[in-house]
Amino acid sequence: MSSVITGLDQSTLELSLKSLKDFAKDRLPDEKLLEWDSRDECPLEIVRQMCGAELGIPLLFIPEEFGGMGGGAFDVYRVCEEMARIDLGVATSVLATLLGSDPISFGATPEQKKYWLTRMAEDGLIFAYAATEPEAGSDLGALRSTAERVTQDGRVTGYRINGSKQWISNGGIADAYTVLANTPSGPSWFVVEKDAKGFSRGKSEHKHGIRLSNTAPLSFDDVYVDASRLIGGVEGQGLVQAQAVFGYTRLMVAAFGLGAGWAALDRAISYSTERIQAGSPLSEKQGYTHKLIVPHAARLEAARAYIEEIATRLDSGEEGLNTEGAIAKYMATEAGNRAAESAIQAFGGYGYTHEYMVEKIKRDVRITTIYEGTSEIMEITISRDRWQLHIKTRGQHYHDQARRLEALHARHPQVGANIAALGLHALAGIMEKARAARLTRDQHILMRLGEWIAYAECAGVFCARAAALLDGRFNAKSPRRFDASATAALARVFAREAALKAAGEGLCWLTAAGGIDDAGMHAFETNLGLSAIHRAQSGLLADMDSIADVLYHRAAKTANSTK
Ligand SMILES: Cc1cc2nc3c(=O)[nH]c(=O)nc-3n(C[C@H](O)[C@H](O)[C@H](O)COP(=O)(O)OP(=O)(O)OC[C@H]3O[C@@H](n4cnc5c(N)ncnc54)[C@H](O)[C@@H]3O)c2cc1C
Repeated sequence: MSSVITGLDQSTLELSLKSLKDFAKDRLPDEKLLEWDSRDECPLEIVRQMCGAELGIPLLFIPEEFGGMGGGAFDVYRVCEEMARIDLGVATSVLATLLGSDPISFGATPEQKKYWLTRMAEDGLIFAYAATEPEAGSDLGALRSTAERVTQDGRVTGYRINGSKQWISNGGIADAYTVLANTPSGPSWFVVEKDAKGFSRGKSEHKHGIRLSNTAPLSFDDVYVDASRLIGGVEGQGLVQAQAVFGYTRLMVAAFGLGAGWAALDRAISYSTERIQAGSPLSEKQGYTHKLIVPHAARLEAARAYIEEIATRLDSGEEGLNTEGAIAKYMATEAGNRAAESAIQAFGGYGYTHEYMVEKIKRDVRITTIYEGTSEIMEITISRDRWQLHIKTRGQHYHDQARRLEALHARHPQVGANIAALGLHALAGIMEKARAARLTRDQHILMRLGEWIAYAECAGVFCARAAALLDGRFNAKSPRRFDASATAALARVFAREAALKAAGEGLCWLTAAGGIDDAGMHAFETNLGLSAIHRAQSGLLADMDSIADVLYHRAAKTANSTK
């Protein structure tokens, strides 16, 4: 792993975020967003302004040698979170341009990079990323589009593309498309421009959410492209190139979940300070805040910690991080979706109407658990990869992580690292039992494992982040909404949930699958440390009280009403 950190400097990033906020304030007020949403209309001019010279968001991430600013993964996360706070539909249009250019950034020849990335930087080209097909969604191996070689004097001079693509963001508005099609040597990416003969775009989809984003099917009827449009110049690299960018692209969608989740939660927080019921603001009612607000803040910030960890590793030169990207996406998008759902409840009847925006955010954020790999595919990805680690280390992988957290607890007893360690030990026990009893033959067990792994790993990373903050170590580009003490409280709350989930649900499903009989139950519960995990719940309510105080800017120990 190289230690070179890439990316924008802090002031450039802050300036870019400010320009984005100013742009949104000026041109994307709530009323406009609601109007486009109700008309199911993509504001093309806004997308062009965001992708082109005016705001130039893709420019931030194009390498400097091609006229961009060379932003890294951490910058991508911050910008994507901010865009999602504004509107996830418009954000998706910008994302699709970034996604569309990713096969080029990661897999193209130097000449192709120079040509396309320079055009993106200079002309503000809008891209689309066309992988999905009617029959090939989660399983891209089922791809049917073909790219037949066209030869002249025995030399491949071009390709003829045939087939159709489904659910393509920017499908109806892009200038250029990166298209995955089967060549004789396997799936490969091609660049196709919008005016190519034989290429057509279908009717835009009428969607549940992200209605400001254009989504359309595409068809290719003998579309000829020159051989120079084969990305990387070598056939059969398509799936490898797609895999190579997953760590990065899933991080972007993770940041979308985070931004949309916080956008909804912040609206609920603000609303609850003004809404008086039973004689006092909702924000002062513990049963309200501790159900509808605080747990979501903890889950979102846990996901942020994981996102930041992965972004930092990517910026240090680590490659792949496919599984880690999957964990980040899974945790942040599920947390964002739950937070938005809760925000509707927090607004009561008003939340159920369009005007208060949380209803729109909820519809919008729903897509983040579907595109760029569904949550279920994330569970499978996470589980399969970590299963290999479990086997390779003879069951020690998560025990080792837990021991590192125990050492951290000795230095920082307040960050919940001991609780996260309990969860990881329990996870190792669950995985070992599942191995011995061959329970992962049941797909449901395999996928639930993916969820417990994601929670337990995320808890460990969050506690480590809280400890780093206490040590005064943090990325200057990280937002500072919560100080070290509030972060520690959030980390403790999340670590308790993760440990309970891994041990409690793990025990439940292993039993359900017939892996634990009556005689072995007591010993297995002891082995999981179930009792210690229950004891670790002590202090949870006080931590939630303190987080509510921070979220509502109250002095600590405000008496909570129980009305
Ligand atoms: C608004 C929108 C924008 C999109 N933008 C783009 C884009 O720009 N470019 C692009 O290429 N694609 C895009 N997509 C496609 C998106 O990535 C796919 O919809 C997604 O990957 C799921 O594929 P699918 O819809 O075919 O569902 P399926 O793969 O058919 O899945 C249906 C359900 O089955 C589950 N499932 C699937 N496989 C398994 C399995 N092996 N085991 C257990 N459960 C399974 C899934 O989790 C899901 O719940 C977009 C989709 C939408 C809705």
